[in-house]
Amino acid sequence: MRVLGLVVCGVVLGGMGVGAMAQVSDGVKAYVAEGSPVLVLNHVRVVDGTGGAAMEDARVDIEHGKITRVQSAKLRSAFPADAKVLDLSEKTVIPGLVGMHEHLFYTTPEGVPDGQPHYGEMSDSAPRLYLAGGVTTARTGGSMEPYTDLSLKHLIDAGKTPGPKLWITGPYLGGYMGRIPQLHTLTGPEDAGRLVDYWAAEGATSFKAYMDITPEELKAAVEHAHAKGLKVTGHLCAVGFREAAALGIDNLEHGIVVDTEFFPGKKTGVCPGGDAADDLAKRVDIESEPVQAMIRDLVAHHVAVTSTLAVFEVTVPNSQPMAGEARLKKALTPEAWARYLEVRAVLAQRNDPQEAVLLKKEMQFERDFVKAGGLLMAGCDPTSFGGVLPGFGDQRGVELLVEAGFTPVEAIRIATLNGAMFLGEAARVGSIAVGKDADMVVLDGNPVEKISDVEKVAIVFKDGVGYDPVKLTDSVRGLVGLR
Ligand SMILES: [Zn+2]
Repeated sequence: MRVLGLVVCGVVLGGMGVGAMAQVSDGVKAYVAEGSPVLVLNHVRVVDGTGGAAMEDARVDIEHGKITRVQSAKLRSAFPADAKVLDLSEKTVIPGLVGMHEHLFYTTPEGVPDGQPHYGEMSDSAPRLYLAGGVTTARTGGSMEPYTDLSLKHLIDAGKTPGPKLWITGPYLGGYMGRIPQLHTLTGPEDAGRLVDYWAAEGATSFKAYMDITPEELKAAVEHAHAKGLKVTGHLCAVGFREAAALGIDNLEHGIVVDTEFFPGKKTGVCPGGDAADDLAKRVDIESEPVQAMIRDLVAHHVAVTSTLAVFEVTVPNSQPMAGEARLKKALTPEAWARYLEVRAVLAQRNDPQEAVLLKKEMQFERDFVKAGGLLMAGCDPTSFGGVLPGFGDQRGVELLVEAGFTPVEAIRIATLNGAMFLGEAARVGSIAVGKDADMVVLDGNPVEKISDVEKVAIVFKDGVGYDPVKLTDSVRGLVGLR
């Protein structure tokens, strides 16, 4: 089973400068732990998202949804009038994560042995789990139900349901009937342009090219999106990375493990399937000149890459200790949990080393891409056979970036400010700086010393409203895989 092949993959609203609680409905208030419009986070360690060193014993002021002061707590300047002061000694505040490969759907367990792949829309669980996991801005990377995704965005923005600031990507652009019947199959470049125009008018703010898309279709999609100031990303297969860069793509998902251009049998416009990944694992050296030339080419064309290490890790046999999976079990339906365990056991028994080799090569590629000046972002991609969940998967992605060789502050920057820069939102979100939206995550502990502390979310601020991660997670307990 080529498990890696299962990985799907799968400018908007400006100022939502809400006056904190004013625009949060009673339904959402149930999840709010800190609703004071003026807050001081005092004696906190600040990892600001820029990749710079942490600031110890700092103070961050929040006034009406915005960050109004970041300074040493030792300066003892006066607190703003009516401020509620929180003593956060021993805690760390990081920017809200900017998840760049997110989905609002999840793999549903197979109903019949010869059934079709199916992805269920997680209207309730996905937005809450993203927010609970510290993701305050989420760009979807492909949609199964674009109308539902757009409606959820509107409901969240109106304060009617909890969730992150969503950037909705239109339906996948590719040819899918053989893979996922829920998706549209393009009939050619005209169709690609037509789809982009339609979904942009409906409110989609980005597009995702998918595996079988042809060079001609990709070119048309990019032209139509760029004409509207929108961007195109891709999980490609029939088109190689350098070819896509030349066609004007803005972003590539997953990294080199899905690049087919080094496969000797590659035919123009045809996806070689799993053979290319096998070849990459066995033969392709990341430090070789052709790969390094590809990296330089992406950087020269300003093509960003989205790291999705968590969804690759899930297919590596026994990659995660079962003890760490307790939170998964709580979140999933019993059927989804059973299915996850079943596939996990099959992978463990087969013990194929290839997925681990691919994960290592992908990590090496991401390091080299950043070293060459490339913009690397991160997302969780809750697909594959399950087990990668909104929010949890984003946290795991940060941990894996550190395993890949980035420092903790670099990994946090990749998962925050870099995504905001790509979205053109860096003036508003992505780092802890005066004037920005108060989108921040308070962590118990110190991720600079122990990166797994990114999982210890104490409170998540979005526009200055502090959400309780436990209440959010508990509200959808046992529902992931169902709704
Ligand atoms: Zn995806």
